[in-house]
Amino acid sequence: MAEATFDAVIIGAGHNGLTLGAYLAKAGLSVGIFEGRHEDGGGANTEEATVPGFHHNLHAQYMEFIDYMPIYHDFRLEKMGARMIYPDVQLGITFADGRPPIIIYRPDPELEKKTHQSIAQYSKHDADTWCDLKRKVMERDRVMAGFLYRAPEAEDDEQGAMATMGGVMGLAAELGLTMTDFGKAPKVIIDRLFESTELRALLYRQCVEWGSNVHAGNGFGFVLSVLWLSAIHKMSVGGTHTLAHAMANACLKQGACIRYGKPVVKILLKDGRATGIQLKDGTEIEAKLLVASNVDPRQTFINFIGEENLEAFRRERLANWRFGPEHVLGTPSFALHQAPAYKSARHNPDIDRCFYTVVGFETAEQMSEYIIQAYGGAIPDRPGAGTWVNSLWDPTQAPPGKHAMNGWFFFPKASCLTPEEWDDVRATYNDRFLKLWAEYAPNMTRENVIADRLYTAFDIEKKIGMPEGDFSHGRPGGGTGMVGARGYQYRTEFPGLYLCGASAGGGGISAAPGYNAFKVICHDYKLPKVWQQECRDY
Ligand SMILES: Cc1cc2nc3c(=O)[nH]c(=O)nc-3n(C[C@H](O)[C@H](O)[C@H](O)COP(=O)(O)OP(=O)(O)OC[C@H]3O[C@@H](n4cnc5c(N)ncnc54)[C@H](O)[C@@H]3O)c2cc1C
Repeated sequence: MAEATFDAVIIGAGHNGLTLGAYLAKAGLSVGIFEGRHEDGGGANTEEATVPGFHHNLHAQYMEFIDYMPIYHDFRLEKMGARMIYPDVQLGITFADGRPPIIIYRPDPELEKKTHQSIAQYSKHDADTWCDLKRKVMERDRVMAGFLYRAPEAEDDEQGAMATMGGVMGLAAELGLTMTDFGKAPKVIIDRLFESTELRALLYRQCVEWGSNVHAGNGFGFVLSVLWLSAIHKMSVGGTHTLAHAMANACLKQGACIRYGKPVVKILLKDGRATGIQLKDGTEIEAKLLVASNVDPRQTFINFIGEENLEAFRRERLANWRFGPEHVLGTPSFALHQAPAYKSARHNPDIDRCFYTVVGFETAEQMSEYIIQAYGGAIPDRPGAGTWVNSLWDPTQAPPGKHAMNGWFFFPKASCLTPEEWDDVRATYNDRFLKLWAEYAPNMTRENVIADRLYTAFDIEKKIGMPEGDFSHGRPGGGTGMVGARGYQYRTEFPGLYLCGASAGGGGISAAPGYNAFKVICHDYKLPKVWQQECRDY
């Protein structure tokens, strides 16, 4: 006998599970969301990780999709507790010898001159090229958004998806990219377009941050991660978790039920159809119409359903599923007396208030080597990092006069090191970073640090369940393609079972997988198309 019954049961209250839950409830279904942890959000997480009073985002730092994200606007998340800051000084790289930083400002016409001036200190050619390409992409940014927020599998979206493909190809041509560029690694394109080692270093880093492999990926990664997603970063006031809480509030307002501390262990099947879930405490929850999983495919199919119940194509797809190395990070958090004061600030003081600053790399070659080491399964020798001092923009994130910093190291996936080796990294790597940091900002001494903590790929897997620390829940490998042999992406071979997390529609706090899963479900169950809005073509 089931303890509770809902039309739709969602496994996991990550931001994608919450997105699907909000739309399903708005479409009139009764919705139950079952989250294993004590709070919602998954990778949209903020904790007082160093000492009380200092807020640290342990996973997602910057919010690059807010302008495009349907749930943010459809459910008026600003009325549910979310609030964003859009820093004008977006993205920078600073240097140990105090030479000028490169700063890329928010892509507003009035700030473009500042970006141009900053890059032109190294190369006027690079400044002209960057500003021209970035402007062209931002003029067509909705085309790029359509790429994310459309699901060809949702029949209502099929035509739009075709139009998006056409739009992306048109944009690529406008950017001067050819078909063969789509077969080239982003590094090849960056090196062809830009001549200064300083800008190249920054752009390699941008490329890998959203998971596009700079050395072995394809040219689309350059358009997506470097041209579109760089320097459009918003910041969630109070920490990234407030965005997830606002999504949870939207779910509750629509009448959905969220239960915390309820890990799911099984998907119940009857005659091959998903009919509910079983929780770790043995409780069964009935799903009258559907079950949707926000968690990775290994858990969903192998743990919750059992390999013995899977068809050959699914087993092969899972056997080829690839976790890392592209989407694996580690997060250093520092509670500070003072914000870093960079040597490079004598040329442009804005570097000291830059939202996101890359520290520890002098040349493109150093950045390239760093990425190769991390992707190759090693802890990089040079402990450079991307850094945010969020309290510079949002004073609520640290006690008065103090500062809270978060960063990113690229790390190998969790299984590359033993638990003891990760202990060692946790105990030593922040110190190594701090020594390097002080070469760039001399006030970054041990005395300036109130407390620090390093959160590794191993910890990410343990805490949120992202396998290997992979923030996209992995991706198909071995030529099984994006949608797999049967064309399943959000749908599965089990009637009534859907995928709605990062593994289905990509990583990042985009809310695209949850939104796209809703479109597919909407079609299958003939629900009101509450996703369609006149102001939006996706
Ligand atoms: C270090 C790091 C930095 C990142 N930085 C950024 C960034 O700056 N910007 C950005 O856009 N993205 C960033 N990301 C990526 C982003 O966080 C993820 O892609 C995103 O969280 C995926 O969302 P999701 O809802 O699909 O899954 P998740 O966030 O993984 O949520 C899944 C949920 O399911 C729950 N769950 C797992 N197993 C069970 C179970 N058995 N039963 C019940 N519940 C379960 C989990 O607790 C979790 O709440 C980062 C990720 C990491 C790890």
